[in-house]
Amino acid sequence: MKIPKWYFFMEQGLKYRIAIIGGGPAGCACACFLKQKGIFSVIFEKNSPLKTLLPTGGGRCNLAHAEFDLKELASNYPRGEKFLYSVFSRFGTSDTLKFFEKIGIGTYIQDDMRIFPVSDKASDVRNAMLEAINGVKIIKENVISIKLCSGGFEVRSEDKAYFFEKVVIAIGGHSAFSIASGLGHKIIEPKPALTALKTKEDFSFLSGVSLKNITAVCEGKSYSEDLLFTHEGVSGPLVYKITSIMAREKFPYKIRFNFMHGEDLQSLLNENPHKNIKNVISEIVPKSLSETVLKICKIDENLQAHKIDGKMRDKITSVLCGFEVEAISTANGGEVVTSGGVSLDEVDNKTMESKIVKNLYFCGEILNIDGFCGGFNLQNCWSTGYLAAEAVLNNI
Ligand SMILES: Cc1cc2nc3c(=O)[nH]c(=O)nc-3n(C[C@H](O)[C@H](O)[C@H](O)COP(=O)(O)OP(=O)(O)OC[C@H]3O[C@@H](n4cnc5c(N)ncnc54)[C@H](O)[C@@H]3O)c2cc1C
Repeated sequence: MKIPKWYFFMEQGLKYRIAIIGGGPAGCACACFLKQKGIFSVIFEKNSPLKTLLPTGGGRCNLAHAEFDLKELASNYPRGEKFLYSVFSRFGTSDTLKFFEKIGIGTYIQDDMRIFPVSDKASDVRNAMLEAINGVKIIKENVISIKLCSGGFEVRSEDKAYFFEKVVIAIGGHSAFSIASGLGHKIIEPKPALTALKTKEDFSFLSGVSLKNITAVCEGKSYSEDLLFTHEGVSGPLVYKITSIMAREKFPYKIRFNFMHGEDLQSLLNENPHKNIKNVISEIVPKSLSETVLKICKIDENLQAHKIDGKMRDKITSVLCGFEVEAISTANGGEVVTSGGVSLDEVDNKTMESKIVKNLYFCGEILNIDGFCGGFNLQNCWSTGYLAAEAVLNNI
């Protein structure tokens, strides 16, 4: 295809050669790194730029994790670990903190090693990044296809067609992967990760009950974090971790929770002989859950502790230590990140450039990379966004 001259995106005498498709954290970070070196790109964004940053970290934006060893950092990505070694060796956690410091966002490390902006406001991070890309052209259009043509790419939106020499695709994990597959890239089927789960058992009466530092076993793997019951099933950091590891597996699967933290039920029974069993178990788990445990054991919740014999005690202990649920699907609207996306085999992890199409780059969640909760998914955006920008600059 021959490119007519008017295809070049020109404004006020400036010819823009680089398009970034998607103005989320990855695309905007890439634009920002380019601008810091004096290169202005065009961002195509169908919504508002960085809108997806606003709900992160519950509105506080958990922008990174205080893990400074690159291999340890990469081990938090069920998909992408090896690919990210080289990426993090070039742009890791300390580079992220320096970047934010530079654009006026001071950060702090929480007790659990998650890193947040000092103001605890995702909107401040968004505003600082928008300020940092001031002057970058933002075109509010939905890109529907990208086609190779001689000397570059035709970027076609619902409204118009444009021409660019280099294209960075940063459309995230909830988008039209056909844009990448249309250019010959293999797409690993997208599946939700970091989600709440629907369970076969009805726990709606436990909705809102949360338990700290619970261990769980799923398919032979052990996990430990906080658990939350919801009207559909289970959620919370513990379930997010499990769904991250299980993202590529088929439903249904079973999870066994251990609600005990070393308590000895017999000692509690001995210390409270006249308390009813429900209240004794409530020393270990919230009252509503102790009722459920006793229902499963088929033991009268009003029975006094001294009437609980060894068989009943062992039954209660086994349910408290191995509370089994059957996950039947992800919960509605609970998805936080997508596992799957552009296959990493076809992307150079030193440059983020496609190994199939020259001058085409990827960054962020569109790649088959996803991490645990804790700042890892945004770290992926900053790091891959940086590498794409660096490669574009070296190639200009
Ligand atoms: C509720 C919630 C909380 C989260 N909290 C955290 C957290 O605290 N820490 C963390 O590390 N991660 C968190 N994440 C994950 C993190 O937000 C994502 O990993 C990150 O936003 C991915 O960035 P991205 O730029 O790759 O994609 P996106 O954020 O999805 O951005 C892609 C952008 O491209 C635009 N776009 C898509 N298709 C087109 C198209 N065809 N044409 C034009 N524009 C297009 C979209 O409108 C969007 O703005 C959270 C996610 C959710 C949902």
